[in-house]
Amino acid sequence: MKVTKHGQYLTMLTRYPLLGPLNCFFVREEDGLTLIDTTIAKSADDIVAAARDIGQPIVRIAITHAHDDHVGAVDRLRELLPDVQVIAGTREARGLSGDQTLDPQERAKSEKGGFASIARPPDRLVEPGERVGSLEVIASPGHTPGHIAYFDTRDRTLIAGDSWVTRGGVAVAGTMKLLMPFPHMFTWHRPTAIESARRLRALNPTRLAVGHGAVIENPSAAMDRAIAEAEKKVGA
Ligand SMILES: [Zn+2]
Repeated sequence: MKVTKHGQYLTMLTRYPLLGPLNCFFVREEDGLTLIDTTIAKSADDIVAAARDIGQPIVRIAITHAHDDHVGAVDRLRELLPDVQVIAGTREARGLSGDQTLDPQERAKSEKGGFASIARPPDRLVEPGERVGSLEVIASPGHTPGHIAYFDTRDRTLIAGDSWVTRGGVAVAGTMKLLMPFPHMFTWHRPTAIESARRLRALNPTRLAVGHGAVIENPSAAMDRAIAEAEKKVGA
C-alpha cells in the first residue's frame, strides 16, 4: 500500500492509488496508533507492516461504517493483533452483525452498498460526542444510517470516511462524480448526507481525509462549493 504522512498525527495508507483508491488511516496517540477503517481483507498484513515501519503498535481500530471496503480486514487484523480494541458506532454495529434493518424514523427504504459482517462484535460502541483518544466522534449519517466521522481535536483534522469523497473532486456523498462513482452510488439517503456534510463543514477542519481520494488541506472553500452543488442536485 502507498503510505503518505499528513501533518503531525495522520498517516494515510492507500490500496489501488491509481484505480479506485481505498484509504485507511493511522492517527498517532501517546499509547500507540489508532487505525481508522481497514480497506479490504488482503490489506491486513500491509497495515501491520506499515505500523512496524512507524515503530508504534496498533492499539485500536475505529470504524466509520460497515461497508466491505472499510471493514474488510478487521477479522484478519484481530488474528494478527490479539490485544487490539475494535470500536464502532452503536447504530452502525447493527450492520457489522449482518443486520440491515432500519429504524422506523429512518427515511429511505433500504440500505445500499456491500455491507460486511465481522466475526465478533466490536469491543467498544461509541456515540457522537464521545472520544476515541484525541478523536471526537461526529455523527455523519447519510452514506449509511449510522456512519460516524472522527475529528482530531489537536489539529482539527477531519477523517470523514465516505461522508465526503475527494476523488474526482471534493463532493458530498451521493453527488455522482465520474471518476469515483461507487461511494456516491452506494449512498443510502442523500438529504441526510447533505445535513451531515454541513455539520462536518461547520467544524472548520484544517484537513479533510476520506475513504476515497486525496487528503485536502484547508478544505473549507471546496466543501462550501460541494455543499452548494449537492443542494442543487438533490434539492435539499
Ligand atoms: Zn461506503
